[in-house]
Amino acid sequence: MNIAVIGTGYVGLVTGTCLAETGNNVICVDIVEEKVQKMKDGVMPIYEPGLDILFNRNIAQGRLSFTTNLAEAIENAQIIFLALPTPPGGDGRADLSYVLGAAKDIAEIVKDYKVIVTKSTVPVGTADKVKEVFRENTLVEVDVVSNPEFLREGVAVEDFMKPDRVVVGASGERARALMGELYAPYVRSGNPIIFMDERSSEMTKYAANSFLATKITFMNEIANLCELVGADVDMVRIGVGSDARIGKRFLFPGIGYGGSCFPKDVQALALSAEEYQYDFKILKSVMDVNQNQKIKIVEKIKQYYKSDLSGKHFALWGLAFKPETDDIREAPALYIIDELVKAGAKITAYDPEAVDNVRRVIGDKINYAEDPYTALQGADALIIATEWQLFRNPDFKKMEDNLKAKVVFDGRNLYELQKMIDLGFYYNSIGRKVIE
Ligand code: NAD
Repeated sequence: MNIAVIGTGYVGLVTGTCLAETGNNVICVDIVEEKVQKMKDGVMPIYEPGLDILFNRNIAQGRLSFTTNLAEAIENAQIIFLALPTPPGGDGRADLSYVLGAAKDIAEIVKDYKVIVTKSTVPVGTADKVKEVFRENTLVEVDVVSNPEFLREGVAVEDFMKPDRVVVGASGERARALMGELYAPYVRSGNPIIFMDERSSEMTKYAANSFLATKITFMNEIANLCELVGADVDMVRIGVGSDARIGKRFLFPGIGYGGSCFPKDVQALALSAEEYQYDFKILKSVMDVNQNQKIKIVEKIKQYYKSDLSGKHFALWGLAFKPETDDIREAPALYIIDELVKAGAKITAYDPEAVDNVRRVIGDKINYAEDPYTALQGADALIIATEWQLFRNPDFKKMEDNLKAKVVFDGRNLYELQKMIDLGFYYNSIGRKVIE
């Protein structure tokens, strides 16, 4: 099939590349010329494990190309994916201007039947708005489909190539058939393509993200309580997760969820509910708890240093909102940096992939180290904010030699308590006993 993908961010680039991988001809469009030029030169604009192999292969074999020219991209496309940003607008609701703006641009130039697919996460009713844009701007027949994306950054290729399910919200038979054909190679192991109406499909995405955010927030609250009552959240997590009704995944407590999706999607769903005079109480609590959880580790640090952080120097391991990505949107590390710097502390950070993005946002507000151990040099303590694999089994001797004091605040529970006792560290983690 001939496919156009509008927007080449984390979702668009993965979608375009993975659709090319099964033999489709894909043209990806972006408005950022520099980005498009980079991709034409074979350079990936984001870090996503495993994507580079598919990216290079499909470019080399002529199935994947890039342009800034929308008309050229859609001319022969049967299906057009909108993988555009839907950030929170000024009122916190999802800003639909990118999606509706692109729909209008397409409507003004479209010449024959197309399936227009919204891949972006959009509030219920957006498909109707997109249809309206086409009705107002063209006489050409199009079908509008909602096809939310469930990929996780860091394992996006695997998630796209072998999805748990594909959700397609479409009312037209023609569009359903085309979408079914397009996705068939990705569900060969028997996972379903679930067809439904557009509104249910749009709601499915928000419900999934909000449920996951709630699950993790619930565990964060259990962890906070574990600290007070003297229980170990790691044990509780295993005990609870062994119940098949609950499941083992997404139960790891930490310093709050971040990223480009959960914070904005939970907020957007809560605000959408308000539009219908529905008070979505759980989601309001989830947002509230998560906000506090992001800086809870700073409270612990302040408590340890008796509220005086002026002149203190911290090493910070991890800047990305989660491992295996360079995405720093709503990353807890940024909130921690903000609070510590406000309190007069100095920070030297290390992250394997996210430093350039952080530097673009906060510049030289902190120092950046080339490797994890350099970051520790002369620091009063280490703070761990992202669970990159390389932090899981560090050289503790080197850690001890470089740090000024053997003090670790771990927001991701990377180390066994007994190990930290044996090594003689002060070790303060989440929902577990403090090792002094
Ligand atoms: P992103 O910000 O990484 O990428 C968006 C891209 O669109 C950018 O490259 C931008 O330059 C481009 N763009 C903006 N306006 C354009 C236009 N008019 N024409 C062409 N290109 C344009 O965003 P993302 O993380 O890929 O997310 C896209 C959507 O997918 C959002 O709605 C998001 O909520 C949803 N989503 C994201 C993830 C994720 O993990 N990132 C997962 C599932 C769903």
